[in-house]
Amino acid sequence: MIEILLLPGDGVGPEVVEQAMIVLDAVKSKYSLEYTISEGMIGGQAIDATGKPLPQETLKKVQASDVIILGSVGGPKWDALPSDIRPEKGLLELRKGSDLFANLRPVKCWPQLLEQSPFKNHVVEGVDILIVRELIGGAYFGKKGTSHEGESTAAFDTIEYNDMQIRRIIKKAMDIAGTRRNRITSVDKANVLETSRLWRKIAEEEALNYPKITLNHLYVDNCAMQLCLNPAQFDIIVTENMFGDILSDQASVLGASLGMLPSASIGEGIALYEPIHGSAPDIAGQNKANPLAAILSVAMMLDISFNHRQAAEDVEKAVENVLIAGLRTADIWTKGLGLVGTREMGKAIAEQIK
Ligand code: NAD
Repeated sequence: MIEILLLPGDGVGPEVVEQAMIVLDAVKSKYSLEYTISEGMIGGQAIDATGKPLPQETLKKVQASDVIILGSVGGPKWDALPSDIRPEKGLLELRKGSDLFANLRPVKCWPQLLEQSPFKNHVVEGVDILIVRELIGGAYFGKKGTSHEGESTAAFDTIEYNDMQIRRIIKKAMDIAGTRRNRITSVDKANVLETSRLWRKIAEEEALNYPKITLNHLYVDNCAMQLCLNPAQFDIIVTENMFGDILSDQASVLGASLGMLPSASIGEGIALYEPIHGSAPDIAGQNKANPLAAILSVAMMLDISFNHRQAAEDVEKAVENVLIAGLRTADIWTKGLGLVGTREMGKAIAEQIK
C-alpha cells in the first residue's frame, strides 16, 4: 500500500492538485491501484496557520508517507517576510530533509501545441529533453549572509559541492540515460568555477562505468543559447542546482507553457511530484490554471513510485487525446480551439481514462 501525502500549498496549487486527484481516481478504478491519501499544509497557508512554512505536523506526515504530491507555494501576501520564514523556505526544507537530491524535469514539445510555442516549428519539433537537476546542494543551501558597514551593505551566497553529491546525481542521470537515447550533456561553468571543475572531473570518471552512454560537456551560457538554437540535440541535461533551475524554466518555453511541465524529485526513499510552475497569483482562484503539469506529475508518480508504466502511459495518452480534441486552457489557447477552465480540463482527462 502506497501512502500519498497531498501538500496543495498556495495560489493555483490547490486548484491543480484537485484535478490531478480526480485523474488519479480514474486511474485507480481502472487498474485497482492501492494507496491511501492524507493532506498537510506547506508554504503560505502553513505560515498563516502556524507561523512556519513547514510545520512539525506536516513533517510527521512526510515521515509516514511514500510519496508527496505538491501544488505550489508562495505569493505576494508573504513576499515581505524574512527569508527564513518565507513559503519557499518550506519547500527547500522539505527537499533537503527528505534527501531529494535528483530533480527530473521532462520537457516535451507536444505536436498539438507547436503553434503556441514562441519558437519556429522546425526548432521545437521533436524536442524531448530530460533535465536532471541536483536539488539540495549549491548556492541555495550554501553559507549566505548580509553585512553592513557604514553606508554600505554587502551580501554573499556560497556554492559548495563535494564529490559524493556530484557522483550520485551523475550516476542517476547515467542510469536514466540507458532507458532513453543514451546521451548526456553535463552543464557547468568549468572555465571559472572550482565547483564546476570538480563536477566535470567526476562526470568524466563516472562515464567510464557507462560505456554505452555518450557524454559531452557544455558551459551553462552556451547551453542556454543551444536550447534556443537547436534544442532537439539534447537527450539528458544534467547540472547543478541553480543552473538547473534557470535552464529548466528557459526550456519550459519550448513546451509552450509552464502549465504543461511536470517534475519528480527523488532520492533513496520518499519521492515528491509537482508541477514546475509557481502559485501563479495573477490567475489564482479563477479556474484558469492549466492542470496538465500537475496531472502529468501524477503520470510520473505512476511510472516511478508505483512502477506502473501502463497506467502512466494511460494518463499521457489521455492528455494527448484531449489536446487533439482541441481543448485548451487559456495559456495554450489559440483562436478556433475550445477554451476550458481548470476543472473542465481535469474532468476531460479523467473521462478519457475511464
Ligand atoms: P509562476 O510560475 O507562479 O507564474 C509565472 C507565469 O506563468 C504567470 O503569468 C502565471 O500566470 C503563469 N502560470 C504559471 N502556472 C500556470 C498554470 N498552471 N497555468 C497557466 N498559467 C500558469 O511564477 P512567479 O510568478 O515567478 O511566482 C509566483 C509565486 O510562486 C512566487 O511567490 C514564487 O516564489 C512562487 N514559486 C513557487 C514555486 C513552487 O512552488 N515550486 C515555483 C516557482 C515560483
